[in-house]
Amino acid sequence: MIPSILPTYNRAPLNFVKGEGSWLIEEDGRRYLDLGAGIAVNCLGHAAPPLVDALAEQAGQLWHTSNLYGIPKQQALADKLVANTFADTVFFTNSGTESCELAVKMARKYFHDKGQPERVDIITFAGSFHGRSSAGIAAAGSEKMTHGFGPLLPGFVHLPFADHDAIAPAITDTTAAILVEPVQGEGGINVLPDVCLKGLRDLCDEHGLLLIFDEVQCGVGRTGKLFAHEWSGIAPDIMMVAKGIGGGFPLGCVLATEDAASGMTAGTHGSTYGGNPLGCAVGCKVMDIVSDRDFLADVGRKAGLFRQKLEGLVASHPEVFEEVRGAGLMLGLKCVVPNTEVVAAGLAEQVLTVGAGDNVVRLLPALNIPDGDILEAISRLDAAASALKGGGDAAV
Ligand SMILES: *Cc1c(COP(=O)(O)O)cnc(C)c1O
Repeated sequence: MIPSILPTYNRAPLNFVKGEGSWLIEEDGRRYLDLGAGIAVNCLGHAAPPLVDALAEQAGQLWHTSNLYGIPKQQALADKLVANTFADTVFFTNSGTESCELAVKMARKYFHDKGQPERVDIITFAGSFHGRSSAGIAAAGSEKMTHGFGPLLPGFVHLPFADHDAIAPAITDTTAAILVEPVQGEGGINVLPDVCLKGLRDLCDEHGLLLIFDEVQCGVGRTGKLFAHEWSGIAPDIMMVAKGIGGGFPLGCVLATEDAASGMTAGTHGSTYGGNPLGCAVGCKVMDIVSDRDFLADVGRKAGLFRQKLEGLVASHPEVFEEVRGAGLMLGLKCVVPNTEVVAAGLAEQVLTVGAGDNVVRLLPALNIPDGDILEAISRLDAAASALKGGGDAAV
């Protein structure tokens, strides 16, 4: 008999009822150190007091009015995003894949309105992930996500990851945009080097294409800059955001330059919940905290500490781990043994990690994880790795 919840998830047999910072707690009081943060969502940890206060205050005033009326907190959040990024304008969604939907529509409408309606194709890369909507799965194009769901939304051209020489020959009269994650998350924490991002910007400029970044996972402070592409010194025309921007409240957005957004006039797109007062109240607080220079510098410092300790862990357990990869607090352990075994061994040590493609285990802790919890994480991962190889040397 089908379960009462549609069985699309492979869940771990854990049921958390409370969260505190980097810890998740089961009904019986068992505590787990959370290095997944709800898949890079709870950027300030669980039940972060400033976010609880922002949400509670808004909840006592107004929950929802729809976009038929002005929403002051939405305006405030848009202004903060515009002030802190390349963007001139923002549309609010409730999730990453909804941001993908608009990014695709915006790119096509741009060329339609410029009198080039044949330019509809968007170039994407192997290992990418853009969510589970019809546009999202067609954009990523992997068999695992698209099998059985045809006919797929047309207009996506899939290229190998980080093969710059393959891109220019793939650009034709019908190409509209290039869509890429500056750091691939689901694909296995693959960092696109700055020189590649610059190369993509140059190609787009040369051919009059729009450059779209998916920073749903790597954005909002995760790499130690507010957005990951800032390290490269170049900017996209359109950017998808979600996950961390709501700190745990469902919130996403699409950022764009005035030019890229020029086709999106009144009536061309909409969302009932997008930019609702509750989400935007929390989003404003997240932005206030995460866009602060000292906060971001501390993310970089914590990332340095974590990475150094992880390098030691890998060196002590070469039978389990191959390498550390990633940027900032978006880290991956490339595994020798199946990554599912590493995640399971972590559960036994009460430390939560997240599997990813390419046999990688993801570590995406809260951006404000205390240093002591980083050291605790290393000691639990060390115990997990030792258990996997049936005992062994301690890493720390
Ligand atoms: C999670 C993710 C998405 C999809 O976000 P949802 O909120 O699950 O729809 C899109 N792109 C990237 C890079 C992601 O990590």
